[in-house]
Amino acid sequence: MLSGTPDLVLGRTRRLVLDFKTGRAWPEHPEDMRFYALLLLLRTGVAPYRVATFFLDSGEWQAEDVTEETVEHAAGRVADAAIATIELSKGRPPTLRAGAHCEWCPRRTRCPAAAGWFERSGSGKSSDAA
Ligand code: SF4
Repeated sequence: MLSGTPDLVLGRTRRLVLDFKTGRAWPEHPEDMRFYALLLLLRTGVAPYRVATFFLDSGEWQAEDVTEETVEHAAGRVADAAIATIELSKGRPPTLRAGAHCEWCPRRTRCPAAAGWFERSGSGKSSDAA
């Protein structure tokens, strides 16, 4: 089952999908929006013409026109996640994948994957945890 709820969908036939976020932009946000485009296509048979994230703190937009490649990319990520879920259920050990999301992880000070990521990104956040 695929599920998700964007904050706002405007239009009846030509749709614009919006999401509102606090904080700054991360690479995951466009991926979320592409997933919403895929969901809308699967649900209605028509993809939105554009998806966008609005950042409440900065007032900035991150918008993307939706193309066939957009929804193919989102479908590929869904397929990858489904395959990984099946592999994990069959005993494959999980792999740590560090990224911006590690800033909120309580394990970041002990996580070997996060240490390398914070070094490469130069944020120095790995030592900030309580
Ligand atoms: S710090 Fe490690 S355990 Fe936590 S989210 Fe990042 S990669 Fe995963």
